[in-house]
Amino acid sequence: MSTDAAQILAGDRRALARGITLVESARADHRLLAEKLLEQLLPETGRATRLGISGAPGVGKSTFIEAMGLFLIEKGHKVAVLAVDPTSPVSGGSILGDKTRMETLARSSEAFIRPSPTGGSLGGVARRTREAMLLCEAAGFDVIIVETVGVGQSETAVRDLVDMFLLLLQPGGGDELQGLKKGIVEIADLVCVNKADGELEAQAHRAAAEYRGALRFLRPATKGWAPPVILTSALESRGFSDVWAEVERFRTMMAENGELERRRATQARAWLWNELGEALNETFRSHADVADRLTKLEAEVMNGRLSPSAAARELLARFLPAVKSPRSPD
Ligand code: GDP
Repeated sequence: MSTDAAQILAGDRRALARGITLVESARADHRLLAEKLLEQLLPETGRATRLGISGAPGVGKSTFIEAMGLFLIEKGHKVAVLAVDPTSPVSGGSILGDKTRMETLARSSEAFIRPSPTGGSLGGVARRTREAMLLCEAAGFDVIIVETVGVGQSETAVRDLVDMFLLLLQPGGGDELQGLKKGIVEIADLVCVNKADGELEAQAHRAAAEYRGALRFLRPATKGWAPPVILTSALESRGFSDVWAEVERFRTMMAENGELERRRATQARAWLWNELGEALNETFRSHADVADRLTKLEAEVMNGRLSPSAAARELLARFLPAVKSPRSPD
């Protein structure tokens, strides 16, 4: 076993941070080293509870994760927080990463917080987060929280990373069922109506009742599990024992009925295909004969002179000369 792997297993945080930097690197030689490292550590992974947490900007995600992290550390857990930030690949900016977040939790020796890797496609960012999660597990973190902003495709990517998906909502705005329209509630295993304090408390109770009603008509995200709706106040650290009790009940049910193993196996298969897709895409784009024509054909498709399927056929034929159009005679 390499020194790095041994140090990570011993819980060395600097080795863990270095390992994550390695899995985040796009360099081909780094990829190989990262794969070696992961291979050595894989037998020591899989024991953590993997939680996804999503919610619109401002709903209280960082306040919630910080308070819940401290609550869990108090109970003797070791908590790692990772982020999948859907904005960074697109804008280069970041919703999650720019401000200083979770300062108190970050100072705890039982917590490890890693901001979202930047650059690349959402699939690429999510892949690196998955690998970072495995490294954290090997380093002894037994609760992994993967945070994402509820603004787009990233929830589905995070759903494919974790055992259980928590959705954070807040009362107000007169549009309590907002999340439903976006279909996010449908993938939630647990809904927390946050900010259930002060003058928002009554509204939070109403919102929770509405969600409970609405959820009865949705197909549960996990077979045999009716997603509970819990009131929380991240600001006042209230509701976390209820949240954790549900997480544990969920974990126990999933472990007992074999669903946890099935979900993780399905996720591993999905990640294999994700890897294949990303690798093929990269190889395709960097292929000399393809790169040559790609921009021109893209432009022709965009201005309507060429059909996407004809352009795809030409590019594929350059990439794989053996691929022939079904209609083209030999
Ligand atoms: P994020 O963008 O989802 O990470 O949200 P933040 O954690 O940054 O919180 C956004 C705002 O909501 C901040 O001003 C928080 O202080 C406030 N906030 C977060 N949780 C609560 C809560 O439980 N109750 C109240 N009243 N405010 C909260």
